[in-house]
Amino acid sequence: MEPNGILIYGELNDNCEIAPVVFQLVSKAAELKEKIWSQKVSVCIIGPRINYETIISELGTYGADEVIIVSDDRLKGYNKNYHGELFKQIAQKYPPRIILIGATLQGKEIAPYTAVNLNTGLTADCTDLDIGENYMLLSTRPTFGGKLTANILCKTFPQMATVQQNVFKAIKKENNNVTAVFDWIDIDKIEKKIEIVNLIKKNLSSKDINCARIIVSAGLGACKDNGITLVYELAQKLNAAVAGSRSAYEKGYITKSQQIGQTGKTVAPELYIAIGISGAAQHLAGIKNSGKIIAINQDETAPIFKNADVGIVGNLFEIIPELIKELDR
Ligand SMILES: Cc1cc2nc3c(=O)[nH]c(=O)nc-3n(C[C@H](O)[C@H](O)[C@H](O)COP(=O)(O)OP(=O)(O)OC[C@H]3O[C@@H](n4cnc5c(N)ncnc54)[C@H](O)[C@@H]3O)c2cc1C
Repeated sequence: MEPNGILIYGELNDNCEIAPVVFQLVSKAAELKEKIWSQKVSVCIIGPRINYETIISELGTYGADEVIIVSDDRLKGYNKNYHGELFKQIAQKYPPRIILIGATLQGKEIAPYTAVNLNTGLTADCTDLDIGENYMLLSTRPTFGGKLTANILCKTFPQMATVQQNVFKAIKKENNNVTAVFDWIDIDKIEKKIEIVNLIKKNLSSKDINCARIIVSAGLGACKDNGITLVYELAQKLNAAVAGSRSAYEKGYITKSQQIGQTGKTVAPELYIAIGISGAAQHLAGIKNSGKIIAINQDETAPIFKNADVGIVGNLFEIIPELIKELDR
């Protein structure tokens, strides 16, 4: 079979919901497909036997032309052994020109496994994608610790990339027809190298910033005199996730997984509240897809204000307690 179109890994979470990054990738792929002779956008879902009707039509509204489903009750919950092997087999059975996978924990396992087994290259953690000369995928990603941005051309097929979450917007399309393909692969034939004996959930001190509606973010200005406690308190009142700048991470006030920016995460909350953050370009790169930005900073010339919808000039140690008091009313 001639390689055709773009295949996306349709990551499911433990509740059998599609990961938000999948919709973002489908939207981007629908745009890219126009540049490679209108080939199709396919999503491969590997999961338990459930009704996928709503998921299929939702993927269709974002631009998927085809949803390939491999289902078996042993596929409830992610297991690299099964999911990696099945995704690879689907990519062999329906060979695409391009494979896109979200740079999530699952995606970061599935992608290298697939690339090695398909004997192709992989560009990881991309922040942008385009089609270049000869209809080849051009992947963009930060390199040398974020000091440079590299455009990478993978010369082997399928061209593969993992893409950071929230760098693309999920955009609904009008009148897109989607077809469902229910495939069957004999799972018993997959060599069982890994058995999941028990899953222990990490006790997270903060909500997940990848899919948070509201993020309260701490900069270096909030990392003194116990300002970080105020940040967490405000976040709790707003039912928000806590994040921060690289400086806040380097000082040990947040974890790496909470760092926003070019060398951290890209986020797309409805509301981003930047507290004591100056607004360096590397930080702004991670918040450009936010709905509204509120900035609190005592320096009225701080660059963050140029990017904020609402700017509050003042001392965070006076402003945040007032905000908390208002929220308590
Ligand atoms: C290659 C490279 C990659 C990078 N990647 C990232 C990245 O991914 N993410 C990232 O964030 N940065 C990144 N950086 C660093 C970036 O350039 C900035 O140094 C960093 O974002 C600054 O963090 P900040 O705004 O918290 O601190 P500062 O720039 O020190 O700003 C602190 C702010 O707090 C304000 N402030 C202080 N006290 C108060 C108070 N009491 N009340 C109100 N306001 C107050 C100050 O006015 C100031 O504007 C990168 C840099 C390089 C070179």
